[in-house]
Amino acid sequence: MVKYKLEYIWLDGYEPTANLRSKTLIREFNSFPELEELPLWGFDGSSTRQAEGRSSDCVLRPVACYPDSTRRNGVLVMSEVLMPDGKTPHLSNSRATVPDDAGAWFGFEQEFFLYQDGKPLGFPETGFPYPQGLYYTGVGFDSMGSIAREIVEKHVDLCLDAHLNLEGINAEVAKGQWEFQIFGKGSRTAADQVWVARYLLMRLCEGYKVDVNWHCKPLGKDVDWNGSGMHTNFSTTYMREVGGKDYFERLMAAFDKYKNEHIAVYGPDNHLRLTGLHETQSIDKFNYGVANRGASIRVPHSFVNNDYKGYLEDRRPNSQSDPYKVASRILRTIATVPAADGRSSAA
Ligand code: ADP
Ligand code: MN
Ligand code: MN
Ligand code: MN
Repeated sequence: MVKYKLEYIWLDGYEPTANLRSKTLIREFNSFPELEELPLWGFDGSSTRQAEGRSSDCVLRPVACYPDSTRRNGVLVMSEVLMPDGKTPHLSNSRATVPDDAGAWFGFEQEFFLYQDGKPLGFPETGFPYPQGLYYTGVGFDSMGSIAREIVEKHVDLCLDAHLNLEGINAEVAKGQWEFQIFGKGSRTAADQVWVARYLLMRLCEGYKVDVNWHCKPLGKDVDWNGSGMHTNFSTTYMREVGGKDYFERLMAAFDKYKNEHIAVYGPDNHLRLTGLHETQSIDKFNYGVANRGASIRVPHSFVNNDYKGYLEDRRPNSQSDPYKVASRILRTIATVPAADGRSSAA
């Protein structure tokens, strides 16, 4: 038997954005544990805004587990929060709101700033570095500094060691700003992994005295520095296999109809980011466009060329949004659109 360090990770009850929390349980297994072997566990919800002091026990239910290469016999246990009955989802449990759909695929592009001493990593002590232009996908100390790449490279390895479906990384438009992409099949897979990848990045940065700033517009809206998004690429089995122009137009009409419901879960302070500038559409408008990075939804060329089949990119979710809430809303809107034969197009 081997003693494994099980790091239970969950989302707390803070509003408008949940924080990641975690703690370690040590248990013996013959080999790397299967999800089904991991026990329910609990925590004090009164310290995480998930319960009152008098009856404060909340239950953690493991939903996915991954190897943690930073610890000997380490396991990252992504968990959801249940009420003390061990069955009912806690009010803060956004994962429980995601419709089941094995045919739904999501690809999240998570942008973020690395921060040190209250400003983006690499910014001078006062004022600003040279304007945006060379930082995006850049190379060289002058643009990239000396620590950022070491951090993001280590993060890539941590994600791959954990078997997360990381699809790539790139330096972003602002100095100190980066992106990673995670893709997953199934309505919750990519969202689970985005939360674990966020956790790994924040934990890694501790050792560098660097913080991850997830805010969508950390430098404010009045300066010419990009904000951070979490572009959400999505498709369902119907979109990939049947699709068609008529279905696409009805789908976009539904996205227009529910635009406020979408914005409500696309992250706080998004009005600072969705201004119509910096490759965004204004927060109060909905539009779509082929290869249009100023649209709410970008339609890839491949989608049109393939008879309106494939995936779409919702560019509105911001870097601080909860991928469970985003996936949940997108699938709910899709579910309102009947297929060509009048049946449901959702799973
Ligand atoms: P860009 O920066 O040009 O918007 P990225 O390469 O950063 O594009 O991200 C595109 C994302 O789209 C990737 O995360 C990829 O996994 C995802 N993706 C590709 N095909 C699909 C699909 N059929 N359904 C959902 N997401 C997809
Ligand atoms: Mn991208
Ligand atoms: Mn990007
Ligand atoms: Mn994108």
